Amino acid sequence: MKKGFFRDIFRGTYLGVISCAWLGYLIGLRILNWNHSLWSDFSNVAGALFFSTLLYVILGLVVGVFFTIGLRIIFILAGKKGSPGGFIRTWLIVYSGLTIIVFTYLTITRTHPDAHVLIYDVHLVVLYILSLLAGYWVIGVLISRSETGLVKATVLPIVVFIAGGLLVSYFGTPKPQLPLLGNIDEICDAVESANSDAKVFLFAVDGAEWGIIDSLIAEGKMPVMAELIERGVRADLKSLPTLKSPLIWTSMATGKVPEKHGILDFGSFQFPIMKNSFINYPDGIGFYRLVYTIMPKCDMPVTSTTRKVEAIWDILSMADKTVGVVGWWATWPADSVNGIMVSDRFTYTLFNPRASANTLRKGQVYPPDLLDDIIQFVRLPQDMTQEELSRFIKGEVSGDIFPTEWDASGREEWNPLYQLKMGYTSGESFFNASLYLLDAQQPDFFTVYLEGNDMVSHYFWQYMDSSEYPDPISAEDMERFGELIPRYYSYWDSLLGEAMKHLEEGTDVIVASDHGFGPDPKPKIPFRGGEHQLFGVFLAAGPHFKQGYSAEAASVIDLTPTLLYLYDLPLGEDMDGKVMKDIFKEDFSASVSPGAIASYETGRRFRSSLTPSSADELIKDQLRSLGYTK
Ligand SMILES: [Zn+2]
Repeated sequence: MKKGFFRDIFRGTYLGVISCAWLGYLIGLRILNWNHSLWSDFSNVAGALFFSTLLYVILGLVVGVFFTIGLRIIFILAGKKGSPGGFIRTWLIVYSGLTIIVFTYLTITRTHPDAHVLIYDVHLVVLYILSLLAGYWVIGVLISRSETGLVKATVLPIVVFIAGGLLVSYFGTPKPQLPLLGNIDEICDAVESANSDAKVFLFAVDGAEWGIIDSLIAEGKMPVMAELIERGVRADLKSLPTLKSPLIWTSMATGKVPEKHGILDFGSFQFPIMKNSFINYPDGIGFYRLVYTIMPKCDMPVTSTTRKVEAIWDILSMADKTVGVVGWWATWPADSVNGIMVSDRFTYTLFNPRASANTLRKGQVYPPDLLDDIIQFVRLPQDMTQEELSRFIKGEVSGDIFPTEWDASGREEWNPLYQLKMGYTSGESFFNASLYLLDAQQPDFFTVYLEGNDMVSHYFWQYMDSSEYPDPISAEDMERFGELIPRYYSYWDSLLGEAMKHLEEGTDVIVASDHGFGPDPKPKIPFRGGEHQLFGVFLAAGPHFKQGYSAEAASVIDLTPTLLYLYDLPLGEDMDGKVMKDIFKEDFSASVSPGAIASYETGRRFRSSLTPSSADELIKDQLRSLGYTK
């Protein structure tokens, strides 16, 4: 009896491992498949397959042991004799059926830019069904209680794995489609031909929304933006279908869709022996949780090293233009540019209040010695004074000033006031460093990125106008926080005005946001009333732009082509954006003829991989609190 008990547990566990191993193996194939975007050099197929299978084998082991013991106990309690094979068979059929439904659903609903990948998806479903049929045969052998059963059941899966692997690699292993590289001579000629002496200041405000700006201008509360609109060009800036900031800001800086530039989310995975990171994986079947639980180090926030293509600051550097880039998403570790770069992890590593810049010196800024000069500007959330808080919050600003609903919930990780402090102090850090840098030198291209607008819009939208929200909001909270977002807009308007005082005469000023904002009456994350909207802000004023002009809606991917045009640099034909030609004055357009070249890519960035840092865990915490990752 005892012997039978352990034998059944062993067999049941074995079944769990085999079925989960198959799932892991197929998910590995799927990861390769989905990450086979147009410009991926996915050279390490074995790594994805190995680690994905390994993760599911571990899952299978755990599930198998508990499931079988549980089943056996039920058998004993029910007073039944004999093998639980029938139960195991039933369990596997239900389990497999559900998995097939999930796989098929994901295949149908998942859209992918490459049609041939969809065909490959169908291969995968067929392969999965075939593998399960093979699996049933294994199960049949296993529960037949024959002496040779176990040997067969060990050899058979191995044979099937190898055969399946060979089949897949023959029919469907993604062949990396390498991008079109530019011709070095052509690139050199192109960057030497630029004869515009434009200087640009790009003020990058995350999540800025025209609706709020226009109503505040009407009330006289955004005088700087009002003045720029009057003497410049405004347009709606259409975002990308996936409204995630790092991916959009990278598209803005490269003129390319995320499938090409490689920054696809806030975080990414990278298994130890894989050369590339990947972000797309089958959702809903526990893959993320498995990686997160078993191999948490493989889950990392995005870094500049996963960007596969040249950014505007790289191209301008090649063209011998000087650049200054401060705080832009996914710029850590800082690239070497012809000028200065202050990476997104400079302040508290964008999201990390507990690590000072000193503990993460590496890659913070370029050139590295610059850090000593600007570290004085770093401010942490706890540095925000009561006086500064009362710029945004009405009434008494001391002690307990949290929204009532949040305070009662005890959800420390989603502290709206903390989000305000973090956004504000990071913005102050980047902004004050920018003023210092602008005073020291005036690069041909300078940009500063401010995150706080996005954070306060997520957390305080409901207090601005509660009419769209089903749950009542207390009058006290409406009074305290109702003005927070408008005041935050007025605040960055004043920063913009301040920055403009530090610019050389004749500098073009551009204001851009990655997406707009609107109410979110049913938020997925509690206490967040605002959500991203498709249309953001574009505003350009200066000697090269038309005055008082309202241009057609453009796209975030048009920003880089438009900047290239302003510097009289040719468009890269591999860029997905276009030049916003109608925003320029006619005499300027007549004076330049940048044309186009095939590509600015030299291939130096294609083998992209994540750079780990000691702040990874803290950054992931913050991304979760903003609802950006699970
Ligand atoms: Zn954003």
